[in-house]
Amino acid sequence: MAVAQSFDLVVVGGGFAGLVAANRAAQLGLKVAVLERGQDETYPCNSRYAGGVLHISYHDVTDPQPELARAVEQITDGYADRALVTAYTSTARRAVEWLTEEGAKFVPDGAISWRQWVLAPRRPPVTHMEWQGIGADVTLRRLEQNLVQRGGEVHRGTRALSLIMDGERCVGVEAQGARTRCAYDARAVLIADGGFQADTELLRQHVSPAPQALKQRNAGTGCGDGLKMAQKVGAAVSPLEPFYGHLLSRDAFHNERLWPYPQIDELGSGGVVVDARGRRIADEGIGGVYLANAVARLADPASATVIFDETIWQERGRSAGIPPNPVLVKEGGTLHQADTIAELAGKAGFPLNELESTLRVYNDAVRSGRCEALDPPRSSHKRVPMSISAPPFYAVPICAGITYTMGGIMIDAAARVLRPDRTPIPGLYAAGSTTGGLDGGHACGYAGGLMKAIVFGLLAAEHAGGSLAAK
Ligand SMILES: Cc1cc2nc3c(=O)[nH]c(=O)nc-3n(C[C@H](O)[C@H](O)[C@H](O)COP(=O)(O)OP(=O)(O)OC[C@H]3O[C@@H](n4cnc5c(N)ncnc54)[C@H](O)[C@@H]3O)c2cc1C
Repeated sequence: MAVAQSFDLVVVGGGFAGLVAANRAAQLGLKVAVLERGQDETYPCNSRYAGGVLHISYHDVTDPQPELARAVEQITDGYADRALVTAYTSTARRAVEWLTEEGAKFVPDGAISWRQWVLAPRRPPVTHMEWQGIGADVTLRRLEQNLVQRGGEVHRGTRALSLIMDGERCVGVEAQGARTRCAYDARAVLIADGGFQADTELLRQHVSPAPQALKQRNAGTGCGDGLKMAQKVGAAVSPLEPFYGHLLSRDAFHNERLWPYPQIDELGSGGVVVDARGRRIADEGIGGVYLANAVARLADPASATVIFDETIWQERGRSAGIPPNPVLVKEGGTLHQADTIAELAGKAGFPLNELESTLRVYNDAVRSGRCEALDPPRSSHKRVPMSISAPPFYAVPICAGITYTMGGIMIDAAARVLRPDRTPIPGLYAAGSTTGGLDGGHACGYAGGLMKAIVFGLLAAEHAGGSLAAK
């Protein structure tokens, strides 16, 4: 096997986590190489596909730190690791300032409080995947240029395969280039490969009994390489079940204009989500990310449907940035409509009695304020339940769109990879969507994908810079 040059830091993956870390490490004087599996100059990755909204659990990243920490704790229902939450929320403002110094430009999205830091130029309000020349793409390109100017190297078309260990310490990476296999010697390695959402086998083991029935709402590049490499050298991993994603029209499987938007989340949490027999499957009040996870766990995730009425269609259906009302139908998505539940059941293919019975029980519970007693319960503290009683009635066949996996490699507040006994593996770091412990829990709480990547990329580089300088 060929031996490439030696580096202070080798970074696996050139998304935001990887490129932020590489630049910060180069700024601190480290000799850095980024190994990126993609070949093209604008290789696909979730970072490049992102809408570019920097937020922490739907809060402005410059809000006071205690408020941000509370937001993450609340949305994850106490699941998020305390030390990670503190590191995350107390570095957020500095991370945005650092990114600005790197040349990132921001534009606020109106008065929406959590959309004040959107990478410019802003994504146009189109439903299909559009990324070229948009904020995230422009910023990634800028970070790569900065890195090269600082003497860092980006090795595209290079897929990391395994970690090289010297006893307990990680000292490099073995990787497959276009023609040769190469060993990269390194004083430290950062795994930033973006999660395992695109690996069917890992999804089957952890996320869904039928992963082919999930809509890949992502760049298709997160194949779990980092997770497998880290586990092989003894890394601890968090629960791997939850993912960040959204409810989408089921037509997204064959209609490119129906993903990554419109999300059907607001209709799902406004109405009810039922299985093929017309029975509710989950607590709609927790929200769209949670519902997407519940749909993914069905024996057939491509069999769920959202049911709602005219009031919900007019109110909740119009409330998102790219709202299903009217966008869903305009872009060719299925919307069954009927004046009675019986007629709707016929159009959408449900056993008549089951759907009527589901809605009767649900509406009774809403009217009597006893939604918590439903099976499954319907919580009211985040989203007020509404009865489904104002015709016409609607049904949207849906699927679960998976964006990135929330579970992954356990790290500490300095992004060092931890063993099950919570001691760090010397020389090994991880950042971004490949890591666990911040997002997730039973509520599938979302902490903010871009900020997670940027903050822990920054912290990994700073710790590596400090500890290597000290030697
Ligand atoms: C459509 C969409 C919209 C989104 N919008 C937002 C948003 O507005 N706000 C927000 O906060 N989040 C958003 N996200 C989520 C966000 O994009 C991700 O959480 C974040 O970009 C993850 O960054 P990362 O660096 O960890 O991973 P990635 O950006 O996925 O980068 C990982 C890189 O590693 C490379 N790689 C993988 N395996 C290997 C290997 N073995 N060797 C070498 N390289 C490898 C991949 O090719 C990839 O380039 C969105 C995501 C999508 C898909």
